[in-house]
Amino acid sequence: MRRKLAAGNWKMNGTTADLAELSAMADAAVRGDAEVLICPPATLISAAKSAATEIAIGGQDCHAQSAGAHTGDLAAGMLSDAGASHVILGHSERRADHDEHDDDVRAKCRAAWDAGLVAVVCVGETLAEREAQNTLDIIGGQMAGSIPDGATGHNTVIAYEPVWAIGTGKVPTTDQIGDVHDFIRARLERRFGAGVGRSVRLLYGGSVKAGNAADIFAVSNVDGALVGGASLKAADFVPIIEALN
Ligand code: PGA
Repeated sequence: MRRKLAAGNWKMNGTTADLAELSAMADAAVRGDAEVLICPPATLISAAKSAATEIAIGGQDCHAQSAGAHTGDLAAGMLSDAGASHVILGHSERRADHDEHDDDVRAKCRAAWDAGLVAVVCVGETLAEREAQNTLDIIGGQMAGSIPDGATGHNTVIAYEPVWAIGTGKVPTTDQIGDVHDFIRARLERRFGAGVGRSVRLLYGGSVKAGNAADIFAVSNVDGALVGGASLKAADFVPIIEALN
């Protein structure tokens, strides 16, 4: 059985005052069976972990190396030391803003595992790629390139996030989500074997809101969501957590 996961990505939002939102999220986590993960800016990881021990806390990126002369970067072990148990890797905003490619994501994933973190690896097609009917090729290529050998249901979560659905209010149909999630599951089973392939949790991400969460969570092979905008406020995120229970 894969435990459901409600993951929030705060992106470059949030200061200490916003940690007050975590208490209602923690209450929702305690009430239900789903795991709740919040990935705040790295400046808040330590305080977030102290504020809400019932919630898993994650980073939004890490460097591929464990230490060194890399001004402004953070090693996976530093995130772990601050209280993180997870790290988002290969988000489309990182791929676009920082020119990250699959091989970078793969190296970061290894670094995350070495530090004991769960890697939440993001894949997703652009609108042009979907319109050209290349979605599954793109997703397959990103999975092959971004996920190292050695992935398990314990160290890896995969988030399918169509680039055109992130922050736009546009959401794929449930059939479109199901097609991609079934494809990801089949690829995982083929590469890692049925046992491991079935144990990796698959999240959908892109304009998930309280109003569409239940329909999305009813899709086969959707084990939860990676939520951006609607994870910032408890009033928006708690109903999404509850839709998983
Ligand atoms: P969104 O972002 O929910 O604001 O669309 C999702 C994400 O980027 O993870």
